[in-house]
Amino acid sequence: MKSVKTDYHVHPDYSIDASPVQIRDYCQKALELSLAEICFTTHIELDPVRREKDNFVIMNGKKISVLHPAWLDSYFEEISRVQKEFKHTNLKIKAGLEIGYCPGCEKDIEKIVNNYPFDFILGAIHCLNHIAISSMKESPSYFKNKNLTALRTDYFTILYEAVTTGFFDSIAHIDLYRRYGLKYYGPEILTVHRGAIEPIFREMARRKMGLEVNTSSRRRGLKEFHPSKEILSLAAESGIEIYTVGSDAHSLDELGEHIEEALALLKTLNLRNHVFSRRQATPCQDCSIKASNSIQATQCLQLTDSRQQNQSGGQ
Ligand SMILES: [Zn+2]
Ligand SMILES: [Zn+2]
Repeated sequence: MKSVKTDYHVHPDYSIDASPVQIRDYCQKALELSLAEICFTTHIELDPVRREKDNFVIMNGKKISVLHPAWLDSYFEEISRVQKEFKHTNLKIKAGLEIGYCPGCEKDIEKIVNNYPFDFILGAIHCLNHIAISSMKESPSYFKNKNLTALRTDYFTILYEAVTTGFFDSIAHIDLYRRYGLKYYGPEILTVHRGAIEPIFREMARRKMGLEVNTSSRRRGLKEFHPSKEILSLAAESGIEIYTVGSDAHSLDELGEHIEEALALLKTLNLRNHVFSRRQATPCQDCSIKASNSIQATQCLQLTDSRQQNQSGGQ
């Protein structure tokens, strides 16, 4: 049985570090790749200390504050226009965000996520001590002042805070510190999560939060996805049931990269990929089991092939 392909981590031209690829062009490519769903996750950072660096998005080629409603209005208008255009296809197009969490930014996050009809909110930790550890250029200035124990404390403390805010549907690239940290700290970083991540996973499970399998690590020469198979197994053992997959595409050629492999990995661990509508998760594989008159079932029926429907019909 072939898995339904989705990409739930895509950066259109609104994201500050993305290529100028428009939502429509990504959708066209998604059709070519036979994706069943694409979810746009424009990246926003809200840390006021980094205001000059990254508290903005790009609209019509110009920088605009992430807090300015004009870009959100334009984002939703554009997504809705493209949804209409692709209505006749099997592609579902979803509106989301990737929010870099920073303590103290809760009010701003609330303002954004509560005032717009998002389908999906990804939470991420990109910065520690106001330094982007996700950036090749910036990360050494954090790493050089911190040993691995300090990195562990800083990262998992802020991650726990992010989880307990309740703002996020899924956590993106949960072991992102490996991206540039592996070269700096060596292989010891691959096990730094042990004992720290389990209580966070239990809290996520309690809140029915999701966890992302992010394939962008491959583009950066790492062997495993974010998270590693070990971390994914710990998530499963801790009771997390909702998983999403994303390429973290910043350009057209990155869309859908390694998604099939990520889905295969989920399958080997008996875990399920999910899609979201208005912040509600639905598992991808068994959508046809649900009542045929529910909105979610109607959406998901298109994601299942007729063989699957026959197999699960009447259950
Ligand atoms: Zn990210
Ligand atoms: Zn991203």
